Amino acid sequence: MPFYQDLSIRRKIQVIVMLTVGAALTAASMAFLSYEVVEFRRSMTDQLGILARMVGSNSTAALSFNDAPAAVELLKGLHANPHIISAVIYTADGKAFAQYVRAPAAKDVHQLAPPNDSTAFSLERLEVVRRIRLDGPVIGSVYLASDLGEMYAQLERYAGIIGITLLSCLILAYLVSSRLQRVISGPILSLAATAKEVSVTRQFSVRAAKLGEDEVGFLTDAFNLMLAQIQNRDEELEGHRHHLEELVEARTAELLAVNEQLTLAKEKAEAASRAKSEFLANMSHEIRTPMNGIIGMTELALGTPLSAEQREFLETARVSADGMMTVLNDILDFSKIEAKRLDLEEIELNLPDCVSEAVKTLAVRAHQKGLELSYDIAPEVPEKLKGDPDRLRQILLNLLGNAIKFTERGEVALFVDRAEQADDSVMLHFWVSDTGIGIPEDKHQVIFEAFSQADSSSTRKYGGTGLGLAIASELVHMMGGQIWVASDPGQGSTFHFTARFGRAGETTPPPLPSAADLAGIQALAVDDNATNLRILEKILARWEMKPTLASSGTAALKQLESAPLHGDNFSVILVDRQMPEMDGFELVERIKKNPLFTRAIIMMLTSGAQLGDVARCRQLGVTAYLTKPFRPSELHQALLKALGTQSAPSQPAPVEATAGPSPSAPRPATPLRVLLAEDNAVNQILAKRVLEKRGHKVTVAANGLEAVAALDRQSFDVVLMDVQMPEMDGFETTALIREKEKKTHAHLPIVAMTAHAMQGDRERCLAAGMDAYVSKPIQVDLLFQTIEPLVHSLETDLKVPVEQPLTR
Ligand code: ADP
Repeated sequence: MPFYQDLSIRRKIQVIVMLTVGAALTAASMAFLSYEVVEFRRSMTDQLGILARMVGSNSTAALSFNDAPAAVELLKGLHANPHIISAVIYTADGKAFAQYVRAPAAKDVHQLAPPNDSTAFSLERLEVVRRIRLDGPVIGSVYLASDLGEMYAQLERYAGIIGITLLSCLILAYLVSSRLQRVISGPILSLAATAKEVSVTRQFSVRAAKLGEDEVGFLTDAFNLMLAQIQNRDEELEGHRHHLEELVEARTAELLAVNEQLTLAKEKAEAASRAKSEFLANMSHEIRTPMNGIIGMTELALGTPLSAEQREFLETARVSADGMMTVLNDILDFSKIEAKRLDLEEIELNLPDCVSEAVKTLAVRAHQKGLELSYDIAPEVPEKLKGDPDRLRQILLNLLGNAIKFTERGEVALFVDRAEQADDSVMLHFWVSDTGIGIPEDKHQVIFEAFSQADSSSTRKYGGTGLGLAIASELVHMMGGQIWVASDPGQGSTFHFTARFGRAGETTPPPLPSAADLAGIQALAVDDNATNLRILEKILARWEMKPTLASSGTAALKQLESAPLHGDNFSVILVDRQMPEMDGFELVERIKKNPLFTRAIIMMLTSGAQLGDVARCRQLGVTAYLTKPFRPSELHQALLKALGTQSAPSQPAPVEATAGPSPSAPRPATPLRVLLAEDNAVNQILAKRVLEKRGHKVTVAANGLEAVAALDRQSFDVVLMDVQMPEMDGFETTALIREKEKKTHAHLPIVAMTAHAMQGDRERCLAAGMDAYVSKPIQVDLLFQTIEPLVHSLETDLKVPVEQPLTR
């Protein structure tokens, strides 16, 4: 950018004016000077020409008379003119006749005459040649050379004058322009100042002063107009902003109001949800209390002499009550899931125990339907794990229960394998397969949602709440796993789930129980059910036995007959009791008839013990009799016993698939004095009967006040304390008892007995000073297992409270 771009307007105007004046004056001076030079040269030429003619005419006589000295004398007369530097007179033939030279300038005098009249200007001199005529003919010529000193002196003078004039003019121009530039720069500067003020103060109400009607005036008008428009827009914007603020304020107020309503609605919804949870908990309590009476009384009645019909009625009543408890437990679990109050325990669990308990619990139901029920745990699965055994059992019971429910014929099998292993945990994969009705593909997802069933018509046929899988799914997710189903309608379903468990102690599966004892023994397994056969083969192979499989009695007989030919010698024959065509007993009979096989040990495997089976086994010489599903360890033990490698009882030991409480447990050594604080009359009678049957002495108190009064009157070994009682509830009563004990330093065991089954109930009971907790409906065995060791342990150490886990 040129330097003048940044100069102020004032300076620019001054520079322009001065440059203009300077340029104009310089041009004028140059023209004047040039004119002067031309004029001077013309006048010099004229004068020197006249002088040359004068010298020529004066020298005619001397030339005519060839009088050179006269001519020289004539030329000397030129000395008077200080600018003539040389002069020559030539003869007609061009020879120098006389010459004059003002020393020392003219060294280059022409010796021959220049041919014609001429005038020559150089930078230093002016030379002229003129012909000398005498009455017409040329008699010679004269040459004169003059220096230009005069001209240069004159030019110097002029240059001085021009310089002074130029300077004065420029000064004058500067002074004049300094004053006059204000006319132009003034309005522009004022405009600039106004613009600056606006930009700094952002005040658009300021206006620039208009100083004339010229372009700057027009610019000022336009600028002011622009300011006015901006001001207007600003005012409009301010108006809008104000309006917007009002709008925002109004909207905020509206939103706040809506928010308040939403908060209220949310609180209401939460309160409703709480109320629902409480309602469910209360319902559960209210239903459990009479259920306690129904189940307990039925149990008691079943323990008395009854006719077959009465027993059947009561058994049915007990099964129905158990079913109702299952539904009740499902609803309670679901309410816990909804209230996000479902927690998992992390305790040591024995996986084979847990799985076999679940399978055995359902064995009777499966066998009643004529279904094969089997399970297999892969040898890689660690036995001891950390997790929630009750909840794992609950998932297994649900999946197995469904499989049995939805299968009319065929089999139900449970498998467990290791999916992944980490340092401190192991992921197990469980799957339950059945050969039942199956589930259409589009229902594979929905059945895991609460209250959803694959087919509403099947529901009518099979019953159910649609909660089981939803609960199982939640539990599986809480165990860090996933649940899914694969199914072909009409072919059967396989429910898979994975779950993560902590590792407890040992990291590798325990060595197989004395595998060496059975290694190499040849066994023939006979079962029509392929799954059972496969599982049997796996189990026997794990003990390094040599299993051969037969899928029917006929096939088994063929194997036996061809065995000696192949060098086989079966030491053990495992025979399924129920088989089509030829059943287990018939097969055994035919085996026994063949003297070749008499040495083999025969074990009968049966799905449901039927009356007379054991007797028939004895009669046929069957060595052992196992009820399916059996644990591998049970088979192992039975095999060892049968093979005589372990001291075995002489009789086969059939394994009964019975589950549930047995009120006829042996009586304890010491009868206890029990104070029963319970307001419900049915429960009073039930608990009293159960305890008395066990040999304990029971005093009943209908509420907390009565319980405290009874304690004041006599001493007791243990108190069974209902939590919800009129007058004074279980918590208050316990607090009062513990307060009194502070003086005596005694500690009376108090066991909470409550239908409250929500999470935290047990903690609340223990925090209130109770020593243990049993939930209603009372499980008789569990009640005894809780109170009896408790009394004993408190006798030995009064300060250690013992806790019984919450049972479902
Ligand atoms: P419920 O069995 O009480 O109805 P679940 O949540 O346990 O509820 O099961 C939901 C539905 O999934 C069942 O109603 C049934 O339609 C379907 N279902 C579950 N297991 C099986 C199975 N093994 N075979 C066929 N259908 C099944």
